[in-house]
Amino acid sequence: MSSTSSDLDLPSNEFYRRRSDRTRMCLDGSLPKEIHCVIAVTEPWASVRGVQAGLETLCNLLARFCNHVTVVIPRVQSKVVAGEILVDRMRAVDPYGTICVVEAAPEADLYIHLGGEGGPQGRTIYWAYQGWGAYVSGFPAEGIVPTGEFADHSVGAEMAACLAGAAAFNFWVARSLNSIRPFYLDSYALREASSFAGCAQPTEPISIRPLDVLMVGGGSVGSATAYFLPRLGFKGRIDVVDADVVKVENMDRSPIFDPIHDKLPKANVVRDYLVNNGIGASGYHMTWNEFVSRHRDLLRRHSVWLPLANEQGVRRAMQANIPPISIQASTGKNWNVQYGRHIPFVDDCQIDRFPATESAPTVCATGPVVVTDGHVADAALPFASFTAGLFVAIGLKKVAMGIQEFGENAAFLSFKPSFSLLTQPRRPNPTCMCQNLTSAIWKSVWRP
Ligand SMILES: [Zn+2]
Repeated sequence: MSSTSSDLDLPSNEFYRRRSDRTRMCLDGSLPKEIHCVIAVTEPWASVRGVQAGLETLCNLLARFCNHVTVVIPRVQSKVVAGEILVDRMRAVDPYGTICVVEAAPEADLYIHLGGEGGPQGRTIYWAYQGWGAYVSGFPAEGIVPTGEFADHSVGAEMAACLAGAAAFNFWVARSLNSIRPFYLDSYALREASSFAGCAQPTEPISIRPLDVLMVGGGSVGSATAYFLPRLGFKGRIDVVDADVVKVENMDRSPIFDPIHDKLPKANVVRDYLVNNGIGASGYHMTWNEFVSRHRDLLRRHSVWLPLANEQGVRRAMQANIPPISIQASTGKNWNVQYGRHIPFVDDCQIDRFPATESAPTVCATGPVVVTDGHVADAALPFASFTAGLFVAIGLKKVAMGIQEFGENAAFLSFKPSFSLLTQPRRPNPTCMCQNLTSAIWKSVWRP
């Protein structure tokens, strides 16, 4: 296995030390021993649509916490799986990791296989997808084979990659895959399923209309949302509002924040990623309140708002500003993700969803932790923010497809003790202040 060297101007010891400190925060004080992960694509998956996309996301996620990753690409697969892209992405994430592509699997701690078979027992994660359906398991299963009937594989591939990354993180901490029972996530109907046959799929070719979107909060969930948008075929433009800059602890949990972005405004990094991937975008390096007072002219131009700031006050302030459709997700303290869709007059609003008594930030933080240099950081689980961002991107895709009301509007995905997805319909609370808003007022604000 070859080591990598970096041309980046980074303080290596400092970067590494703080990276470890950050990870430790999520793991009750003890840092697990480093592991070596092998990613392999078994036949007949190698030439299936979405393989490359799923692998890119899985590698991106793994490199956020695993320092040693080997991707196995047999010569026969090298025409359909672009190993160089995978390695370049991982080296950008972790310039000091041991990352390589080989033709045959070496001895390793953990194997991550696309498909349902092969790999050492008890040390292999199996992941797969069909259309919008995603699958992960710590146990082999026959019959998890690709079918060619689904036109759009990207959603399931991205979701399955996030779940596989979550399972890998779980193995890193627990050294066991016993809790990773076969889990199917139906990203289309937004529910847990018992098989790929039970996962809903679009019945007609998907048509995507362009959307004008306001993203407030370009942190881990916001930047993860941005990462997935072009991958899921988003069209339109996005205004990104965030007053923060990228810090070293953000790099463990965002798919687009890398060491080269250290200390840059998050709004600008997210904007640049979107623009580089063909989506029109503007960045506003400021708070929500500053944005509202300085850019009142922009406030009614978007068809969807994404309240993705950690602070509850921002969510409530956005709700008080009579939002259009809002889609949001956040990572919880306990290895989970909550997702919400808020369509005016149909769904509950954000004040219903986040009562004022719940004042703590919605990030994975058991409290602020002082890092070695006195800098205070919060902890994070990388797979949780990736998955939360993907939920938001999927919600936006449904709006663009004109099926925004399809599926429940509240979801809770837990990664521990086992994977589970709970969904429920959340309707407006009759006593909530949003019930004072009539559709006539709403229309006069949005279509004067
Ligand atoms: Zn309400």
